[in-house]
Amino acid sequence: MTPTNEMQIRFTAVSGNESFARVAVAAFVAQMNPTMDELTEVKTIVSEAVTNAIIHGYPDGFGEVTLQCKIVGDTMELVVSDSGVGIADMNAVRQPLYTSRPDLERSGMGFTIMESFADEFDVVSSVGHGTHLKFRKRIGEASMPLSAARES
Ligand code: ATP
Ligand code: MG
Repeated sequence: MTPTNEMQIRFTAVSGNESFARVAVAAFVAQMNPTMDELTEVKTIVSEAVTNAIIHGYPDGFGEVTLQCKIVGDTMELVVSDSGVGIADMNAVRQPLYTSRPDLERSGMGFTIMESFADEFDVVSSVGHGTHLKFRKRIGEASMPLSAARES
């Protein structure tokens, strides 16, 4: 049986770590031979999820974010977790253009974007305990993976 290939990273919830998280997951997923579009979509998912954890999960500015990423066959499974304030009204926050922070010039499109780029997307949140975003995305489905594009 093929062993599961997985990684986990825990980092401080500061905005400078958003690009670190994006690049780390992209580097891990690169071994799945993604297309350029798939890699861009994975990076966008990580970016939106980690930014939400940092800005909304920890409004007081203190906390940690955990990324878990697994390769299961042709599927990436990603979990982005914070132990922050949690989400009280899940239906409201998942509406396009809903933001609780118009003062920070957020556009309220993060959930909509993450949902559109993932094959499966689930949110588990508990007020006062934190939020877990779970994604599944098939990688390498299209005809021109990144490695082939480089060679052509
Ligand atoms: P944008 O992502 O477009 O900059 P946004 O972050 O406000 O704006 P979404 O990412 O769609 O929009 O999130 C919608 C709302 O869900 C947020 O405004 C916030 O109230 C809530 N939210 C999202 N993630 C978390 C989280 N990890 N912890 C607590 N609340 C969250
Ligand atoms: Mg957001």
